[in-house]
Amino acid sequence: MSLAQILSECGFCFEKRFGQNFLTDGNLLDAIAADANADGMTVLEIGTGAGTLTAALAKRAKRVVSYEIDKNLMPVLARTLAGLDEKVEVIFRDVMKESDEELDKILGGDYVLAANLPYYITTPVIMRFIERARKPKSITVMVQKEVGERLIAAPGTPEYGAVTAAVALEGSAKITRIVPRTMFMPRPNVDSCVVRIDLDGRFADADKAAAKKFIRAAFAMRRKTLVNNICAQFGQKRERAEKLLTRCGFDVRVRGEKLGVEDFIALSEAAKEIFE
Ligand code: SAM
Repeated sequence: MSLAQILSECGFCFEKRFGQNFLTDGNLLDAIAADANADGMTVLEIGTGAGTLTAALAKRAKRVVSYEIDKNLMPVLARTLAGLDEKVEVIFRDVMKESDEELDKILGGDYVLAANLPYYITTPVIMRFIERARKPKSITVMVQKEVGERLIAAPGTPEYGAVTAAVALEGSAKITRIVPRTMFMPRPNVDSCVVRIDLDGRFADADKAAAKKFIRAAFAMRRKTLVNNICAQFGQKRERAEKLLTRCGFDVRVRGEKLGVEDFIALSEAAKEIFE
């Protein structure tokens, strides 16, 4: 029986406010599960939907823990995930309201995150999971194509921003596939892509909290130079902010969007001395 028939028999109505755009193509679902490095892993899925990606992940994973906010999907999932009880646990709660302690308790040890994300929580989900203490090994998410391009953008490009740099501080991001809007049910107005962020423990020795302050400052007012943003955000005199940039080898007229994550780390280290 097709998914459309199951949804109709269960009287399911799509909720736009939950970003419900489901995937049905078996090849695509398996490819996403492969992109997600799900093999033999515990997978945290966000947004079970009709369970199509959940089932594809379960084929490869040791275990899938899947959060779904919409309880109206219960009867649908009872059918689409029938027989997978030993591997799959669906939790009908808002993942953004789940505490870190509860997540850690449910997940146990190492895990990867995989999700066809509801668009309205894309950035909060990514930021939460790259920044939390017990991070996943990787985050593989379906996002709007433009969002994916921002996540992998190089310094100096229009797409590059605070989120790009914050992600680069924790791992390496790449687009694994472009997914046209025609692959979703119902069809959204935009194309999507799958992005994988490998949280490879890079910059493990860096003072990331200090580097993040510089990232935030650099993009606080995009049209201003880095010196002006640093003065405003750190309450420093221009002379000291210029000294900091010169010490790190930057032109005093540079804009924050030209700097890579290593540069933000270098600035934050030098600032510990110059701003004391
Ligand atoms: N994984 C399914 C698929 O690929 O077909 C569904 C993906 S759909 C884009 C996103 C799903 O996330 C929806 O089923 C929606 O109800 C659910 N969702 C939205 N906000 C959520 C939240 N805060 N916590 C858990 N699930 C959420």
